[in-house]
Formats: sequence, structure tokens, C-alpha cells
Amino acid sequence: MPERRGPAGRRLVVLVLWLGLLASVLPWWLETPTGSLRGTDDVLIAAGRITGLVAGYVLLVQLLLMSRLRLLERWIGTEQLARWHRDIGATLVIAVLAHTALILVGYAGLERQSLFGEIRVLLGYEHMVGAFAAAGIMVALGLLGIRAVRAALPYELWYYLHLSSYAVLVLGFGHQFTHGQQLFRPGPVRTGWLALYVVVLVALVWGRVVTPLAFNLRHRLRVADVVAESPDVFSIYLTGRRLDRLDVLGGQFFRWRFLARRCWWQSHPFSLSAAGNGRWLRVTVKVVGSHTADLRELNPGTRVWAVGPAGTFTAAHRRRPRALLIAGGSGIAPIRALLEEMPPGAALIYRARTPADVLLQRELDWLAEARGTQIWYVVGGRDDPAPRQALSARGLTRLVPDVARRDVYLCGPPGLLGAVTVALRRAGVPRRQIHQATFEL
Ligand SMILES: Cc1cc2nc3c(=O)[nH]c(=O)nc-3n(C[C@H](O)[C@H](O)[C@H](O)COP(=O)(O)OP(=O)(O)OC[C@H]3O[C@@H](n4cnc5c(N)ncnc54)[C@H](O)[C@@H]3O)c2cc1C
Repeated sequence: MPERRGPAGRRLVVLVLWLGLLASVLPWWLETPTGSLRGTDDVLIAAGRITGLVAGYVLLVQLLLMSRLRLLERWIGTEQLARWHRDIGATLVIAVLAHTALILVGYAGLERQSLFGEIRVLLGYEHMVGAFAAAGIMVALGLLGIRAVRAALPYELWYYLHLSSYAVLVLGFGHQFTHGQQLFRPGPVRTGWLALYVVVLVALVWGRVVTPLAFNLRHRLRVADVVAESPDVFSIYLTGRRLDRLDVLGGQFFRWRFLARRCWWQSHPFSLSAAGNGRWLRVTVKVVGSHTADLRELNPGTRVWAVGPAGTFTAAHRRRPRALLIAGGSGIAPIRALLEEMPPGAALIYRARTPADVLLQRELDWLAEARGTQIWYVVGGRDDPAPRQALSARGLTRLVPDVARRDVYLCGPPGLLGAVTVALRRAGVPRRQIHQATFEL
């Protein structure tokens, strides 16, 4: 089982990122004695420079977080990286806007120009058209990051628009190194920044191109079969070469690109619904939109391009010897795989609306017997009081009296996850022992 770097690795990465920020603004601090700021315009320009350095650095961090480097994904977790990326995104947009506004107003004051006049002057300099374009794209990306805007757009459209952040890197690069007060002169500061660019580019190429290419050339995955599990859920079985050498854990997911008509241009995340067994892989998919509906029609033999494995929702990230697994609906997929790798004595609570919605029941019962796992099927509609009681703090403690001393793994719809997390906290389960797979990146 791969090592769990978890919190220690995460703390190390956070420390390195903060030190990086400090190192990138330090030259500004050293080169800007307080006495040199004589008027408001000087102060504005100095503030514009520091926000420019912060924006440049945060953009590189943003790209690094999304580089899909295995090391980062293993230490921090794909879901956590995506959360950081989302949270830091707002800082980046604010830094870019502040940099643009402060430099414009500062220089307009110094040169006694109107704002429009100053924009015209700046656009005349080399690389400045690109810099303005980069700022415009950044602001548009900031708007796309707003939850309501993101939810209103088809996921793929949002995703492809989001990729324009690479253009920001290219368009903004030139002006940083020709006009940036701390960067235009050859020396250690400029060299350090260039090295940072190289590190991020190498990480991107390694994580997004080299690693997936090597994985797919080695394993050459294909669809073996598509099997219905319920009216709106089906499993896709995959075969390939050297699956016995696949380094994957139950609870992890891949981004799958099925190379069939209508599907090849999209890549979607699905968790394995059975732990790696050296012979085949399986995902269990609920039809929620057009892509998942198309996948149901896949033919055996279809080639598959997979990127992964990813995710820290694994038995290796456990803190306690025993675990409680709680699944709702199609959230059983990763939980079913996880169950295979949990030590004996695990407990499973599976919430479903109707008996027909209980998926993979035969395998679950078989696994429960083989691994000494206790399973409760909690079946009933949303307004049914019995399931609600079973998943309350008191109900959970009654079913699993030592719940507070277990790791709890949760996967299911957001409403269920929220309510069960509150109940678990009330039942005394420390936050660090609660692991959630939200099916959201
Ligand atoms: C880590 C992870 C693991 C998952 N595991 C499973 C699983 O085992 N079984 C299962 O049934 N579902 C799983 N999902 C959810 C699954 O990815 C979406 O239901 C599917 O992508 C929907 O695609 P669609 O075009 O059919 O539906 P849409 O109607 O297009 O999308 C429905 C919602 O799914 C999300 N989504 C859509 N496309 C993508 C994408 N390319 N990448 C990320 N999110 C997307 C968006 O939030 C969107 O609002 C998982 C999601 C994540 C993030």
C-alpha cells in the first residue's frame, strides 16, 4: 500500500508556498527604501509593483496546483488541491486588478495624464497589449469562478474557457521581464523568477502529458463490458495490459476519456467501484446528464484514455484501526472498493430511497461475510422518519457504539453528507476522522 504522507506533506507544501511568496516580494522590499516614496503617486506605483509580483507568483502557484503531479496529489489530495485552487483564484483576480489599477493611476498622476491617456501611453510599450489582454482574461476567469455562473454553464464549456489561464501565463510573461522594476535587470532575482517558470512548466508537462502518456501506453485500457445495475445505473468493466502492476487504491478515481463517437472529446471523473485485482477495473455510473447517458451505449472493445489514479479517499489515509463507511445512492461506488481494503471489523451503512436503488447488494453481502463487516441497509424516502433517525447522532451511536473512535468515510449526495457530518460531530467524531468524497472537483 503506498505511503500516506497526509498532514505532514500538506504542511510542508503550505510552508514552501508561503516561503515562495516571501522570496518573490522580498526584492521589492529591499529595493524600495521608505524615503524613496515621496508622494501619493510613488506610493501607488510601489503598491502596484508589489501586487504585480504577488499576482505573478500566485498565477504560477495556481498552475502548479493543477499540474496533476502525483507527488502533490498524494500528499495533499486532488479534492483539496481543487479547493485551494478555487479559494486562491479570488486572491489572484484581486491582485491582478489592484496591480493594473494602481500602476495606471500612479503613472497617470506622475505624468499628469488622464487615465485613458495613460492607457494609450502604456499600450505603446513592448508586450503591454499582451499584459492588458492577460488582465482582461483573468477578470473573465474570476467571473467564471463565481459559483452561480459556474453552475449555469455546461461543465465542458466552463472547463475549456478555464483553460485560457495558460494564455494568461504566456501573455503576461513578456511585460514582467521587460518592465517589471525587480525583474528587467539580469541578476539573481530575474534568474530566480525564470527558474520558477521553468519548474511550473516542467511540472505541467510531467503531470499532464508525460505521466498520462506513459500510463496509457503501459496499460492500453479497453471497455470489456457494460452491465446494468438498476434502471439508471450501470457498470463499465475495463481490461488492459499489466493491470497487476497498477498502483491504485480502493476509493480512488480516474478521469476517463472513452474514445467512442460523442464521448472522445470529454473526460469525466469516476471512482473505481472494485479495488484493483490485477485482471479488470470497474466503474459504476449513475446517469445524470448527456455524457453519462452516452456511456451506457459503449461497445466492448472501445479504447479508453485514463488519467489517474487520484484521490485520498483511501484506507491508507485512515487514522484509527477501525472504520465506519456511509454511502448514499451511487456514492456506494468508491465505498464498495474501499470496503475491500479496510481491515476486518469495518461497518457499512448504505442509504437508498427504495430497495431497487440498492446497488451491488450481492457483492456487498458477500464481502461483508468474507471480511467480518456489519452492513445496515437504510431504505426509505426523504420524508421517511426512520432513515433520518438511523442517521442522527443517537441512531449512529446505537448502530456503532464506538463510532467516535473510528474513521468515517462518507460518499453520497451533498444533502446527505451535510446532515450526516453534523450528526457525526454531535456523536463525538473528531473532524480529522471524517473523510468525504463529494463527487465534486
Ligand atoms: C472525484 C469524482 C468521482 C466521481 N465518481 C463517480 C462515480 O463513481 N459514479 C458516478 O456515477 N459519478 C461519479 N462522479 C460524478 C460524475 O463525474 C458526474 O456525474 C458526471 O461527470 C456527469 O456528467 P454528465 O455529462 O452526464 O452530466 P452533467 O449534467 O453534464 O453534469 C452533472 C454535474 O456533474 C459534474 N461534472 C460534469 N462533467 C464533469 C467533469 N468532466 N468533471 C468533473 N465534474 C463534472 C458537474 O458538477 C455537473 O454539474 C464523480 C465525480 C468526481 C468529481
